Amino acid sequence: MRGKKHDATCGDQVEFFPVAIDQGVIETILPRTTLFYRCNSFREKLIAANVTQLVYVLAAEPSFNLELLDRCLIAAQYQKIRPLIVLNKTDLDKSTQKAAQYLQLYQKLDYPVLAISAKKNAQPLIPYLLNHTSLFAGQSGMGKSTLLNEIIPKARQSTAEISTALDSGRHTTTHTRLFHLNEVSHIIDSPGFQEFGLQQMDLAALAWGFIEFRTFLGKCQFRNCRHFNEPRCALQEAMRNGSIESRRMASYQRLAESLDSRA
Ligand code: GDP
Ligand code: ZN
Repeated sequence: MRGKKHDATCGDQVEFFPVAIDQGVIETILPRTTLFYRCNSFREKLIAANVTQLVYVLAAEPSFNLELLDRCLIAAQYQKIRPLIVLNKTDLDKSTQKAAQYLQLYQKLDYPVLAISAKKNAQPLIPYLLNHTSLFAGQSGMGKSTLLNEIIPKARQSTAEISTALDSGRHTTTHTRLFHLNEVSHIIDSPGFQEFGLQQMDLAALAWGFIEFRTFLGKCQFRNCRHFNEPRCALQEAMRNGSIESRRMASYQRLAESLDSRA
């Protein structure tokens, strides 16, 4: 898919003119409820449209990236869609315990968290996917493909086809794909979903996305406080007295810096 906003993307609903039994020419892209895209200074690339749920898959092994999780949650909030955190590989008992501890904060903030083992039984994920168009996100190695293969056997087939086409033994997702779980439930799997979705956001919206920050917003000395080192910043104060985790503050600040550098 070329990267212009008027191109169709995964998840789009279109009107088309049939030209053969399995071919058509797109005439209209129907209005989108949501649109995920990423851009760098030269190109803009559409990722997915009409997504209603962002499923962030993470696992204790090989690594555990909470900053990326924060980023995904903010993007979901910004698009006004439901986030779901999936902690995979729960069969790895020891490391999972530690990961689950990290996720307690998110549970406290009312984010849905589902602990699962794609290897043992992926079925508990299915009810969460019904009546949604779910975009799967997460670092590679977390078990996204394994989950997909368990839930949609057809995914296994197409992964195999792509691997064959690339003549590689590895099952690597090379482009964004949409799978039908049933007529009204779809899954979009997108590779390299790391940098996305926050391009239009301003600092106030970013801070609002960190749910535990909300009670302190508007209480800083300066109305345009960026919550870095400003005097009498209510958020910094909340961090000092333990109401805000320093890791979440660091996550906010790094995201804020990435918004600044976009200008
Ligand atoms: P992806 O890059 O996110 O698509 O991850 P993959 O599905 O390719 O999985 C990466 C590795 O994790 C593979 O070796 C999988 O077999 C393994 N894996 C996936 N799910 C589980 C799980 O529930 N438990 C364990 N122990 N390993 C898993
Ligand atoms: Zn402040």
